Amino acid sequence: MTAPLSPGFVNGEVSFWYRSPGMPAPGEPLGGDLRADVAVVGAGYTGLWTAYYLKKADPSLRIVVLDKEFAGFGASGRNGGWLTGALAGSPERYAKTHGRDGARLLQRAMFEAVDEVIRVAHGEGIDADIVKGGLLTVARGPAQDLRLREELAGQRAWGWDADDVRLLTTDEMNDRLRVAGATGATWSPHCARIQPAKLVRGLARAVRDLGVEIYEQTPVTAITPGGRTHPAAAVTPYGTVRADHVLRCTEGFTATITGHHRDWLPMNSSMIVTEPLPERVWAEIGWQSHELLGDMAHYYMYAQRTADDRIAFGGRGRPYLYGSRIDERGHTHDWTVDALWDLLVAFFPAVAGSRVEHAWSGVLGVPRDWCSAVHLDPVTGLGWAGGYTGHGVTTTNLAGRTLCDLALRRDTDLTRMPWVDRRVRAWEPEPLRWLGVHSMYRLYRLADARENRGMARTSVLARIADKITGH
Ligand SMILES: Cc1cc2nc3c(=O)[nH]c(=O)nc-3n(C[C@H](O)[C@H](O)[C@H](O)COP(=O)(O)OP(=O)(O)OC[C@H]3O[C@@H](n4cnc5c(N)ncnc54)[C@H](O)[C@@H]3O)c2cc1C
Repeated sequence: MTAPLSPGFVNGEVSFWYRSPGMPAPGEPLGGDLRADVAVVGAGYTGLWTAYYLKKADPSLRIVVLDKEFAGFGASGRNGGWLTGALAGSPERYAKTHGRDGARLLQRAMFEAVDEVIRVAHGEGIDADIVKGGLLTVARGPAQDLRLREELAGQRAWGWDADDVRLLTTDEMNDRLRVAGATGATWSPHCARIQPAKLVRGLARAVRDLGVEIYEQTPVTAITPGGRTHPAAAVTPYGTVRADHVLRCTEGFTATITGHHRDWLPMNSSMIVTEPLPERVWAEIGWQSHELLGDMAHYYMYAQRTADDRIAFGGRGRPYLYGSRIDERGHTHDWTVDALWDLLVAFFPAVAGSRVEHAWSGVLGVPRDWCSAVHLDPVTGLGWAGGYTGHGVTTTNLAGRTLCDLALRRDTDLTRMPWVDRRVRAWEPEPLRWLGVHSMYRLYRLADARENRGMARTSVLARIADKITGH
């Protein structure tokens, strides 16, 4: 179905989330060469959290953050606003190097990071529309229902107890939210709704207030390692920042940086947002506690009820552009807008009379094994964090604290976590990369279609898809 668009419909322009705080005025670019203690490349959550904790730990440090556009231009200003405690990637993979206890510690650290973000936001006076209403994961149909229960059993095996996640009865589910066709649901308290742009802009302001220098409109064209006789450097057209540490915090954009083309695949995710919905719609669907909403489809969706009573609804759209290209300002194809609208109405038929006000897309970073990592080489001074596979809103906070400890050469619980110094092989060269990702998502779509016709188990097509790209 063609999505009904409101007269003021906007496509792209970074994201809807900038409407309320307003698109930031372009900040000053770098004005020439300088020497710093730490240079951070990328002013999204990763770069800003890293700068925040470093400056808090040692106010005497000179910290410089460089962004090619503005703070919050990337996924940090575009995401679905799930501040989630879910781990990026499978615990089994983290356990390979650090055992099951190591993976469990990482999971607990993720749960705690949700509260840490909320604590800092309150402490720094960042109003990011935060509501900790938890995460509601619904199953629609028997195959999804089975997967939901298998996922729950897996979580129990990894130490999630009844306070971390639980199966809801049908009444409990409907008391919270009425999703058409829902056959089951779990609820976990470890998730909060945020307004992404308000969080990232508030964080940038807090970091500046601490004395960190943020230079915008400053693309880093090369990052060079340091050695015994010279510091590491971030090279830009306006000057070079030399520093003891240069930290690459560019997640989904990393493929555009020389030498890192195949590290992480820039995966697209797309969103639409409705106009504010009238009371009769909320009376029909509920959603009074502002839970985040996800499902168990292979081509999954994610959604939130916004502070101004819209539904922001996201999904995969066009997953990947050949050659790891990035559509920078977030323009979204018509068929993606229509597909997201169809799914939104399938979830909530009461929304059918309203219109879409904005559509946008962004990129997130996906490593070859779908698990994230943090790294800092004390010899070269180069470090990085990312590959959060769509779970970056919380993980970036943990990454920032970890990079801080690594840069300060502290030996802490954080620096001993299983995701520190993880090495992952690069993605295949084209056309294999494109073929792999597109085959995977084509199979996921087919698997969902089969399951939607009433299959009782996960379609074998989805299992083949998982094998293709190691998901
Ligand atoms: C549509 C969408 C929905 C999502 N929903 C969720 C969600 O609900 N929950 C969740 O946990 N995660 C979600 N994610 C993922 C999450 O938003 C990201 O993992 C997270 O924001 C990454 O933060 P970051 O700081 O590492 O990267 P980014 O926020 O992408 O920041 C990278 C920055 O680097 C800058 N940059 C790039 N190249 C250069 C260069 N050469 N020189 C200088 N600067 C450069 C960019 O301008 C950008 O500001 C979503 C992502 C998208 C795209």
